[in-house]
Amino acid sequence: MPNQQFDAIVIGSGISGGWAAKELCEKGLKTLVIEKGRLVTHIKDYPTANKDAWELDYHGGLTQEEAKRFPVQTRSGFVGGDNKHFFTDDLDNPYIEEKRFDWIRGNQTGGRSLIWGRHCYRWSDLDFTANAKEGIAIDWPIRYKEIEPWYTYVEKFVGISGEKLGLDHLPDGYFLPPIELNCIENHLKKEVESRFKGRHVTSGRVAHLTEPQPWHLELGRGKCMNRNRCGRGCPFGAYFSSNSATIPAAKKTDNLTIKSDAIVHSIIYDETKNKASGVRVIDSITMEVTEYVASIIFCCASTLATAQILLNSVSSQHPDGLGNESGELGHNLMDHHYRCGAKGDHEGYADEYYKGRKPTGLFIPRFVNLDEKTKNKNFLRGYDYQGTGGARSNWSRGINDPGIGAEFKESLFKPGGWGLGLMGFGECLPNHENYVRLDKEKKDKWGMPLLVINSGFGENEMKMREQMKSDAAEMLNIAGFKNIQIFDEIGGMGVGVHEMGTARMGKDPKTSVLNAHNQLHGIPNIFVTDGSCMTSSSCVNPSITYMALTARAVDFAVKELNKQNL
Ligand SMILES: Cc1cc2nc3c(=O)[nH]c(=O)nc-3n(C[C@H](O)[C@H](O)[C@H](O)COP(=O)(O)OP(=O)(O)OC[C@H]3O[C@@H](n4cnc5c(N)ncnc54)[C@H](O)[C@@H]3O)c2cc1C
Ligand code: SF4
Repeated sequence: MPNQQFDAIVIGSGISGGWAAKELCEKGLKTLVIEKGRLVTHIKDYPTANKDAWELDYHGGLTQEEAKRFPVQTRSGFVGGDNKHFFTDDLDNPYIEEKRFDWIRGNQTGGRSLIWGRHCYRWSDLDFTANAKEGIAIDWPIRYKEIEPWYTYVEKFVGISGEKLGLDHLPDGYFLPPIELNCIENHLKKEVESRFKGRHVTSGRVAHLTEPQPWHLELGRGKCMNRNRCGRGCPFGAYFSSNSATIPAAKKTDNLTIKSDAIVHSIIYDETKNKASGVRVIDSITMEVTEYVASIIFCCASTLATAQILLNSVSSQHPDGLGNESGELGHNLMDHHYRCGAKGDHEGYADEYYKGRKPTGLFIPRFVNLDEKTKNKNFLRGYDYQGTGGARSNWSRGINDPGIGAEFKESLFKPGGWGLGLMGFGECLPNHENYVRLDKEKKDKWGMPLLVINSGFGENEMKMREQMKSDAAEMLNIAGFKNIQIFDEIGGMGVGVHEMGTARMGKDPKTSVLNAHNQLHGIPNIFVTDGSCMTSSSCVNPSITYMALTARAVDFAVKELNKQNL
């Protein structure tokens, strides 16, 4: 069955799967990427990318019939008429919420790389050592110095705009020029940095090509035009996605095969060799089941889907799922808690104005619990802020203002009326009691057992939120903002879209699922490099760390393969 045999299989084509595919292909391995969702071809399949607001059906809203298909994806406000084609149909893809969990998914070529917010921040040893220092969960098996070169490696390829700050706890990287702050954001920067020692306000570090390098241009990627329509797919390839970057790079090698509409049901375990021999796949259109064979398997289906596949890969040796000897598979689910902070209006800068849009705002790195001086006795770990400032009090230059006609239009061109909002992103502690499991009876229409999610935020996160709100309000107050309003809309876990931790890395096979190379303890040819591998959650956005860990794991896997250790 030569057309079903490959050197490597990658499950999922999202951020981590795209990286696994690129690296494996570039190292010469014939690689099959198996993707649950439909084929989305770069540019061709971005149907709304060039539409203006008035060209979208139903003013960019969903019809009631459409909204019925997205009960989860819509309840936290992620889906609109302009991007609905990149979100998962909840009715076809059910799961069971024992506690509210908003599982935000994008099943298609590129996964959620098409719809992500593109913020990229390195983790540091503040993050990698926190569990060990505080006696929480288990220690990470790696430290910053082991991942540092891999951050640089992926950042160069991705293209990240940002400003160097020289902070130990938010290490600088390989950056393209930052996206400029506007006058109200610069105002906050000046006030906060002069009034609060150790606090910084900088531009969001985002995966946008502000100054494309030759290797970006070679892939057909271009400079960011600040159109701010990124969630619809970017025809310039100016923000990083699997579709614009890693998949084209993998394709150039002629080693890549992508199978879309193909659901990995389980990994096949060969007990004679104590290895995975391949994967069992259901064609989502024909329901045909096919087995694909390979020497190494990279699980990159995203934190919850990877847990689902591993838990579903049962055999007499592994009755509770592959790699579950520790009993930790599916446990320790984390997500960032956010959507709390403060916003306010500013009466200054009445003569200032700006033209156009920009795809990111400001970022305030973590400033609590860095050391004894910044210690907060009420909670462990910390938070950062993402924020946006803009003209008019709703910061959107009239997009959401009621009004019509020439007079209204003229009013939008008048300077003055500034507003700014700060939204905190907080770290979530790992907790064995936050878990997913498979329902023993219920299956989806393709025969996958439904995932049951039982997970929620704890006391530490709730105490932290109080400080996140009051610090945001204090900074705005000191910077002269008026009409300051505190907001707090925690929703459920999952709303943070940074789910992590269901197959954590660790030193000890008795307490962890993966080793320091993202390799399943005990089954050396299975690697898990999506968010499920995370042992703690930091407070910064995680995807650049998945990319770095994926590239590092592929490097290790191919060396091991060449030594015939796999
Ligand atoms: C609105 C939004 C904003 C975000 N903003 C940021 C941000 O600013 N910064 C950041 O770091 N992160 C952000 N994220 C999170 C980021 O998108 C994820 O961390 C990242 O995409 C995870 O990569 P992944 O490869 O693990 O999963 P995904 O990108 O979700 O890809 C997983 C792929 O696996 C496929 N798959 C699933 N199950 C199977 C199966 N059984 N068989 C075959 N294929 C399967 C899926 O269809 C999908 O294509 C955001 C997410 C959203 C939704
Ligand atoms: S803002 Fe930049 S990345 Fe986003 S759609 Fe526009 S050109 Fe593309």
